[in-house]
Amino acid sequence: MLCDLGSAVRRYHLLREKQHFHISDAFDMQERNQTDFGGILFNLPSQVYRPKSISELAALLAECNEHKKPVTVRNSGHSGNGQTLTSGVQIQLSELRNIHFDKTKKEVTFEAGIQWHDILEKIEFPKYCPPLYPNNPGQRIHATGNASVGGVGTQSSKIGGLWNHVIKIKLVTMKGDVIHCSRDENPDYFRFALSGFGRIGIIAEMTLPVKKSKKFMTGIALAYYDEQTMIEDMRQLTKDSKVDSITVLSFIGNKLTKHTHLEIGMLGVMSDVSDDAEVKTIFNHLKENYHSKLQLGIVFDDDTDKRAKVVYHPRRFPKKNFVYFYPNPHGEPEIDLCHLWLDLLIPAQKFHDASREIGQIIKKHQLEDFLRKETTMDEWDHLPSYVSYPIIKTQADKDGFFPLSLHTNEDNLTVGIAIEPSFPKSMVPRAEAMTNELIDFIYAIGGKIYPYSYHNLSKNQTILHYNRGVIKKWNELKEELDPNFLLNIGSVKNVDYM
Ligand SMILES: Cc1cc2nc3c(=O)[nH]c(=O)nc-3n(C[C@H](O)[C@H](O)[C@H](O)COP(=O)(O)OP(=O)(O)OC[C@H]3O[C@@H](n4cnc5c(N)ncnc54)[C@H](O)[C@@H]3O)c2cc1C
Repeated sequence: MLCDLGSAVRRYHLLREKQHFHISDAFDMQERNQTDFGGILFNLPSQVYRPKSISELAALLAECNEHKKPVTVRNSGHSGNGQTLTSGVQIQLSELRNIHFDKTKKEVTFEAGIQWHDILEKIEFPKYCPPLYPNNPGQRIHATGNASVGGVGTQSSKIGGLWNHVIKIKLVTMKGDVIHCSRDENPDYFRFALSGFGRIGIIAEMTLPVKKSKKFMTGIALAYYDEQTMIEDMRQLTKDSKVDSITVLSFIGNKLTKHTHLEIGMLGVMSDVSDDAEVKTIFNHLKENYHSKLQLGIVFDDDTDKRAKVVYHPRRFPKKNFVYFYPNPHGEPEIDLCHLWLDLLIPAQKFHDASREIGQIIKKHQLEDFLRKETTMDEWDHLPSYVSYPIIKTQADKDGFFPLSLHTNEDNLTVGIAIEPSFPKSMVPRAEAMTNELIDFIYAIGGKIYPYSYHNLSKNQTILHYNRGVIKKWNELKEELDPNFLLNIGSVKNVDYM
């Protein structure tokens, strides 16, 4: 029986108001190794190990291999499809915490349990900055976990996904070997470990480049009445040297206000700046060279205020405010709610039609009020907009070097829209029906999902996602490095049995 939705929404907001968790409580998931960020799937590990060094990790895997014990790897547990859950042996990586910053080489090398926040501290951010970083509360997500599922940030619009920027890794296998991998050394292991959900080995150490950074940023919103023009401008912006990153505010077919029929599209363009003169130069440059009908400023005022604001004139703000910003008007996601999140990856040329269809599917299931929205447009008549991020293909992506990346095949530009339902447990079947319909739709139009999130891909969708040749090669490498088929079985749906 359908529940009274009005009262369910009220109960939900009441619940949100009652529960206020501090970031470190909500995101210190290590104690909650029976579930993951999704909070939908549960399992109780029979044994939990927390190795303190890479050699200890290698010895542990070799021992499990000898006794033919399956092993499941858990990092910060921010995935949502049960990938880190098991009733058997769970290895947690959070105590692998060495980190080293080589200022001369401008490289940072860190172990598996290091958070993005630790990296930012070590490299003296904002003096230096990684090429890209994700968007999450307090930058708590562990960087090797991020690289194991993909890794995207707003900078992916300019420089592609995280997989493009990893310099080298140490991969620990079930046989207990520690293998050095990079584009030149063991390149197959390297490229199938990145975004590879730990199927062939554990990324125990990773090296990333860092670059000198400016202390300030500016944000400029470009508004369009026509989304096709917006997409064309977005393509040009990906090549614009004055721009550091681009986001899209997806309105998925909602009208500008309740009182008009105007549809709009909006890009958020971010650039590092040193002073106000530079803000002005960038603003004028965007105004003169792009087709937007209206240019406004986006301001991230201070890092305790979890809102981004649209203002008439762009200005500069500390870069830290953006790096640590997390769009959430109601505080942190509550640990007692379920997060059936789904990032839909759309070929850019299909963005306009696809986003309207996505909006219709959400409306049909009457779950709009349960979706986490962007905060930027909240004050404009509560116009709901969704966190969206373009990902550009680099040359290595075009050459197919990273077979497990988050790109779609049909376009050099992919746009991710984050659909993030958070709700009480009783509503899981309802939200599941919506996400299943969204998944069927997205694969039918040549898109994909970001598979960290909750999903139930069919065998056919898994083949559309990776393609048969990639799956065959991936399984050959797995057989080579994990001949007893013990590591992270089931972390990627269907693939183990193909
Ligand atoms: C609030 C929130 C915000 C997010 N924002 C972003 C974002 O901006 N950009 C983005 O790209 N993603 C984002 N994500 C997705 C996030 O990157 C994934 O959930 C990822 O799983 C996080 O890493 P983790 O350490 O939590 O991995 P876990 O959830 O612990 O593990 C995920 C999978 O990878 C495997 N794994 C983990 N670490 C390793 C390792 N070192 N070696 C081998 N296998 C490993 C695990 O076994 C598991 O299969 C977000 C998620 C949440 C919940």
